[in-house]
Amino acid sequence: MSNDNTSPLSTWAQNIAPSPTLAVDAKAKALKAAGKDVCGFGAGEPDFDTPKFICDAAAKALAEGKTRYVPTPGILPLRKAIAADYTAKGFKNIDETCVVLSPGGKMSCYLSILALISPGDEVIIPVPYWVSYPEMVKLAGGDVKFIRADDSTGFKISPEQLRAAITPKTKLLILTSPSNPTGAVYTRAELEALVKIAVDAGVYILSDEIYSSLTYDGAEAASPATFSDEAAKYVVTASGFAKAYAMTGWRLGITVAPKAIAGAVSKLQSQMSSNCTTFAQYGALAVYEQPELAKQALAEMLVHFDRRRKMLCDALNAIPGITCYRSQGAFYLFPNIEAFGMSSAEFAEKLLEEELVAVVPGSAFGAEGYIRLSYATADETILKGVERIAKFCARYKK
Ligand SMILES: *Cc1c(COP(=O)(O)O)cnc(C)c1O
Repeated sequence: MSNDNTSPLSTWAQNIAPSPTLAVDAKAKALKAAGKDVCGFGAGEPDFDTPKFICDAAAKALAEGKTRYVPTPGILPLRKAIAADYTAKGFKNIDETCVVLSPGGKMSCYLSILALISPGDEVIIPVPYWVSYPEMVKLAGGDVKFIRADDSTGFKISPEQLRAAITPKTKLLILTSPSNPTGAVYTRAELEALVKIAVDAGVYILSDEIYSSLTYDGAEAASPATFSDEAAKYVVTASGFAKAYAMTGWRLGITVAPKAIAGAVSKLQSQMSSNCTTFAQYGALAVYEQPELAKQALAEMLVHFDRRRKMLCDALNAIPGITCYRSQGAFYLFPNIEAFGMSSAEFAEKLLEEELVAVVPGSAFGAEGYIRLSYATADETILKGVERIAKFCARYKK
């Protein structure tokens, strides 16, 4: 960390990068507000409305006066329901004391990192990474160690890479499957190999499973905490309602962890934000109290996401110079744009200026030579956007 002593700002404030994905989204929205016909592939959020039965449950709670502080880790019925749901998914030794609700999955990740990382601890982060992890680790005083993966391996790291990256100082490995930004999904066997190496070395794992219900082509998201009793002691699982149920604005994240770690997450949260919004938690509770409606809502969204994924991936691969790995999860594609001989930031900036198409440069995720497109957007936007990208690419193809 470097520090400019003439600045009134702290080392933390000076050294943390603003979220580049939110920045792209803001720029695209500003252009749209100015009347420009922007095709937005930047947003990391579903374009659907929150299912009505969830909104109704929150509105009912609000009408009933459920507007006060509740226990920091969340309301008991929701924590119990989440514990039961994870137990049904194969999580071991889980009860409500292992579950903490936080203001967003982002906060769940950050508090988990704060609960585990001391200054000088090393944290292994596979690249391409979700933008917030390195900044969160820095805020905790930890040192980031990157492992690079590219489209030749489907954006997955190998056991050999992980083994080589672990040192006596390594405390934590962060895994995200399905991945933001690549959409990659590790198979259970692939994850098991990685988890075994970490656990044997006494390295904790933060498994960010916010996209676990969004998989396609028969891929299944596996949870490291379910692999063995030993793994369960080392895995902290972060998730939330934002992506699966189109609830990004509700700010509801989930941490499931061994009791001592969950307790630390709750303690930290008690000094930072207290409980997440009370009536929002009652909305989320409807997911477990009306499982048929939840299942149906999710299934409907998956049909649309999958259709758009195929449409976007095929259309991108048809553009000379672009190659797009057909990833099987989340709602992102991460095409390779190396053939155009410019940086990903330059590509994204020119594309927005010249063709009014918003994408996020791969450099935001530590991966030069790629751009991220979200297909959580209307079919018409995808068709029109890809046409414009093709035009842009024809102009710059070397
Ligand atoms: C969106 C996202 C989250 C959490 O989102 P919240 O809106 O804070 O719940 C966590 N991890 C990844 C990888 C994400 O893409």
